[in-house]
Amino acid sequence: MSGVNDIRSTFLNYFASNGHEVVASSPLVPRNDPTLMFTNAGMVQFKNVFTGLETRPYKRATTAQKSVRAGGKHNDLDNVGYTARHLTFFEMLGNFSFGDYFKENAIELAWNLITKEFGLKKDNLLVTVYHTDEEAAEYWKKIAGFTDDRIIRIATSDNFWAMGDTGPCGPCSEIFIDRGEHIFGGPPGSADEDGDRFLEFWNLVFMQFDQPEPGVQVPLPRPSIDTGMGLERMASILQGVESVFETDLFRHLIDTTASAIGKAPDAATVASFRVIADHLRSSCFLIADGVLPSNEGRGYVLRRIMRRAMRHAQLLGVGDPLMHKLVPALVREMGQAYPELVRGQALIEETLKLEETRFRTTLARGLGLLSDATQSLDKGDRLDGETAFKLYDTYGFPLDLTQDALRQRGISVDTDGFNAAMAKQKADARASWVGSGEAATETVWFSVRDRVGPTEFLGYDTEVAEGVI
Ligand code: ATP
Ligand code: MG
Ligand code: MG
Ligand code: MG
Repeated sequence: MSGVNDIRSTFLNYFASNGHEVVASSPLVPRNDPTLMFTNAGMVQFKNVFTGLETRPYKRATTAQKSVRAGGKHNDLDNVGYTARHLTFFEMLGNFSFGDYFKENAIELAWNLITKEFGLKKDNLLVTVYHTDEEAAEYWKKIAGFTDDRIIRIATSDNFWAMGDTGPCGPCSEIFIDRGEHIFGGPPGSADEDGDRFLEFWNLVFMQFDQPEPGVQVPLPRPSIDTGMGLERMASILQGVESVFETDLFRHLIDTTASAIGKAPDAATVASFRVIADHLRSSCFLIADGVLPSNEGRGYVLRRIMRRAMRHAQLLGVGDPLMHKLVPALVREMGQAYPELVRGQALIEETLKLEETRFRTTLARGLGLLSDATQSLDKGDRLDGETAFKLYDTYGFPLDLTQDALRQRGISVDTDGFNAAMAKQKADARASWVGSGEAATETVWFSVRDRVGPTEFLGYDTEVAEGVI
């Protein structure tokens, strides 16, 4: 059986032996890119190489890239624990050609890796291509021997990648595996494509155009290749399991959680175990890359992830802070490939423990309030925005934590009402300051408050107050 660590090295070695430079993962906080919340794909560290702003001593590269898709444009936070394939933190394996090889070679390299090195059977595989990309369809026929029914033409942006409104762009081709009729889901492009039967595991992007201005496409003189394969998804395929959470690495994390709390997962609790294992990984890797929980920006996304995990720990009946106890297991699993986890271990444990200790009291109180407020609500009902805002403002519940807490009961949250309550509070606070005569202080105070968010109510038994200056 191929463990996650073996699959990663098989991928990198394969591309190294095909002339690719093995490049280290870049940090989760993108350097020089304030527009991007977190590194969410392998190509992020090569953006300037693709546009030609930067050159490297190599024309082919391969990486295992740490990626986070929570907050920002790609946000898979709400999927985690509920689909078999989404994680907030995952490793994207990639190969890149900077104006070197193109479509035919990229397809050939991919096909040989998955069928020869990984041993996948052709009969279970299918691909998508962008509807106008006949060239890609022809290569798939020639190289893989696919008939037309295995080449699904997609006309949506799912199969057309663009760096932004301008810059490089091009069609992509995604590789799927059919895991059998016993799993719910339809082929890509069908109404049931979100099911788990057909699993997308590799996306090949053919950067073949430049967009000097939105909507205008001119062929690039030297087109490039950018691909991304989800390591955990490939592991689930090679290990013959139905979800990424049943792969070796996640099994170990879930077992560690089970023994720490003295309770094994069952049908009712398995989602919580999964969310905890996933959120543990994203929290630890974010802290190792210098993100700390806070009330704004990246730090607030981290805080949201940590607090969601804590609510799931609470659901499992855990009384004491839990997350920091799971860190050694993660370091054991991933510390060798990512030494920053080993270096950061003490800080990671300390940060998790502190956040959990501080949030525990308000979490319990807020959940009490939430349960009272929703007692008379049923499936299909909506929680009013003011209560959701009170939970946010007084108890430190990020909006998505409240939404996640109500999800299983089929209750939604009035987000417009939530935003209105937030706007009203800001306006009221400003109004009450009018006439203080200290305009300078006022401006400073409000800009700080807007930046750090509201002060949290932490209970009468603690003196720690965050966001207070
Ligand atoms: P999906 O349609 O399943 O959400 P995607 O099309 O958004 O995936 P890409 O942006 O094409 O994903 O990323 C390249 C590869 O990275 C995917 O083919 C998949 O193997 C992996 N991947 C993407 N998102 C996730 C995630 N949230 N968790 C784990 N792996 C992921
Ligand atoms: Mg996606
Ligand atoms: Mg997709
Ligand atoms: Mg994709």
